[in-house]
Amino acid sequence: MPDFLNDAQRDIQRRAHSLGRQVASLNTDSLEAHQIESETRALSKQAGIYLLTQPAEFGGTAGTSLDLTIAREALGACGVSHLPGFFGPMPGLLAQASEHVRNKFLGPYLAGEAKGGFGFTEPPDAERHTWARDEGDHLVVNGHKSYVTGGSHADFINTLVELENVGPAMVLIETNSPGVQIIRRFGSVDGTQHASFSFTDVHVPREHLIGEAGAGMKRALDQVNAVRMAIAADSLGLCSFVCDIVAEHVEQGRSSEIDAGSDQAVRVQFGRMRSQSYGVRSAVYRTARLVDAGENAVNEVMASKVLATETLNLLVDLAIQIIGGEALVDSHPLASLFRRARATRLAEGPTDVLHANIARGYLDLHLGRI
Ligand SMILES: Cc1cc2nc3c(=O)[nH]c(=O)nc-3n(C[C@H](O)[C@H](O)[C@H](O)COP(=O)(O)OP(=O)(O)OC[C@H]3O[C@@H](n4cnc5c(N)ncnc54)[C@H](O)[C@@H]3O)c2cc1C
Repeated sequence: MPDFLNDAQRDIQRRAHSLGRQVASLNTDSLEAHQIESETRALSKQAGIYLLTQPAEFGGTAGTSLDLTIAREALGACGVSHLPGFFGPMPGLLAQASEHVRNKFLGPYLAGEAKGGFGFTEPPDAERHTWARDEGDHLVVNGHKSYVTGGSHADFINTLVELENVGPAMVLIETNSPGVQIIRRFGSVDGTQHASFSFTDVHVPREHLIGEAGAGMKRALDQVNAVRMAIAADSLGLCSFVCDIVAEHVEQGRSSEIDAGSDQAVRVQFGRMRSQSYGVRSAVYRTARLVDAGENAVNEVMASKVLATETLNLLVDLAIQIIGGEALVDSHPLASLFRRARATRLAEGPTDVLHANIARGYLDLHLGRI
């Protein structure tokens, strides 16, 4: 029984696969981006996948980490997981916010009516981390955030600040507040859009603090961990997608008269690709089960993200080399996947930083199992 899934989990896998195949068969060239998103959302709701990311109290079906891993892997394996609309917005940090913030922002956010961003990364030349001064019923925020995905259309940004005399804190900043300015809008190689922000004496109501002041880094990392698992599961599915493209290429070569020597060389590469995917699958599924068991899986999540994204990049590169110039034509699925995969080695923590963290946990803090 692959991956030891129970009936309910196999059902999610079957539904997500069938959803992925349906979306893959849409003629996306003839549709605008917003039409693809609404079509995908409608199909995902029908398939019972859309609500897996949302809590039961908001009408969601609250999938476990393993449920989400299964669904994301299946969509990745169909090569469509990058399209928006498959999953409802995750409550993320807002689930831990004050009642005021939950009432005002969480409902509209989960319904897709309000957009949020995540402000963590800062410009390398920043003299001081974004900081906040406590002035009783409000905080005054100053600083910069350099890489906020979806920032141009965000109604609010969950922002990591250094609260003076207390420590790191997460705070919700509304983008229409006086003193909030977008200083740069840009796209990255994977096709996603971002913005850089400056904050100048921005007054933020105290109840916009998310969770306990001083525990902001932990709050931010909880959110980062969930997204790292999502990237790992998606990359795992994409590894299968890449293997399938190479397998099809080998099949085609068999029907044409490819010379036996090069066929054998490709087979060896293909075997390597499949064993590496197997290693990633073992790590990602094990980690999802640890998360669901309530274990502290922070190191396993980092390792899964690194293994999955590094393997995906390697596989895409190998597949392009095997298939040749045709794979670099813009319309080829490997060409766009090459660009998207590259971003995953930096987003939500660069590989070197995650490796350094795993080493620190073991060597300095004597924590973690890996
Ligand atoms: C597609 C995409 C979406 C993103 N979305 C967001 C977002 O919504 N919100 C947000 O806040 N950020 C976002 N980011 C930014 C991302 O989190 C950062 O790019 C990433 O954390 C690296 O930070 P940096 O770019 O400042 O590079 P740096 O931190 O300068 O790192 C560059 C390199 O330096 C080395 N290095 C740095 N520190 C260490 C260390 N401690 N140990 C070992 N080596 C080290 C590593 O080799 C690393 O790759 C996004 C990035 C991408 C690509």
